[in-house]
Amino acid sequence: MLIVMQPNAGEEKIQKVIDFIKQKGFDAHISKGADHTVIGAVGRKVIDKRDIELLDGVKEVIRISSPYKLVSRVFKPTDTIIDVKGVKFGGDHIGMIAGPCTVETYEQMDETAKKLKSYGVKVLRGGAFKPRTSPYAFQGLGEEGLKILREVADKYDMVVTSEVMEVAQIPMFLKYVDILQVGARNMQNFNLLKSLGEVRKPILLKRGLSATIEEWLMSAEYIMAGGNREVILCERGIRTFEHITRNTLDISAIPVVQKISHLPVVVDPSHATGLRDKVAPMSKASIAAGANGLIIEVHNSPETAVCDGAQSLYPEQFKELYDELKALAVVLKKEFN
Ligand code: PEP
Ligand code: MN
Repeated sequence: MLIVMQPNAGEEKIQKVIDFIKQKGFDAHISKGADHTVIGAVGRKVIDKRDIELLDGVKEVIRISSPYKLVSRVFKPTDTIIDVKGVKFGGDHIGMIAGPCTVETYEQMDETAKKLKSYGVKVLRGGAFKPRTSPYAFQGLGEEGLKILREVADKYDMVVTSEVMEVAQIPMFLKYVDILQVGARNMQNFNLLKSLGEVRKPILLKRGLSATIEEWLMSAEYIMAGGNREVILCERGIRTFEHITRNTLDISAIPVVQKISHLPVVVDPSHATGLRDKVAPMSKASIAAGANGLIIEVHNSPETAVCDGAQSLYPEQFKELYDELKALAVVLKKEFN
């Protein structure tokens, strides 16, 4: 339920409404707009909306019929812009994230990051805990990988994202990582999502392998309901009957989600296609369709990469794409960072 306050309702009246709904067993989520404040009352209890309508300063009470509430544009009409130490995702800002699939060695990360930083990239990726289809495949360096990622990022003044796989890992991730990534396979790990709701760092939430947009947004709702407002959605391709590409990139998800939700949507063209030569065209298509950022796999030596070498760009190849995307952003009147 959304409680829209009158434009002139002061802090005192707003607080009284918050106290009232809390006492009725609801959580209150506040969205302060330019004109008026909206209070999202979220909970499982039943309440007579007339009781709220009668409170001082309340303009109207809207029951939201959609299952997602806090992620919805009805709750927050303006775009959410997530600022990760100066790098912005959302609104007119396009954020670029690049790096290898997984952290292998210090030298590999150092070489890759050095090049990426020289091109202008500020956010470094690299998995330390890898969700692999086969239990016999490389599972990641674990905490050692996170340490390398942090050390290299600090050396080049970059911020980092890495995938967290379970609740117990969260405190460790908070020590090393600026954006916590939830992988496609964990999109509906509800315990993980609930715990990430308590975190005060941005979450990059990948779309599940076969998840509908509604299921994806409900997962974001889990994080937001816990109080974490900073969710970046990531379209990374979905399963279809097509086998030539690893997945099928759902470009239409970008404008569809942006209409329903205020959250930024970034695209991962690497996992979406699985093919190096398809990454550039899909990156350009995503930005043209309005994506608020990209996460691209880049490796200093893709042919010797431990995983996902075939979809990883050579640094020089990435630079060419990066320069083209910057030019595209100018045409689209977007801020590229
Ligand atoms: C990744 O980004 O490293 C990854 C495993 O991606 P996804 O969860 O989208 O498959
Ligand atoms: Mn990968």
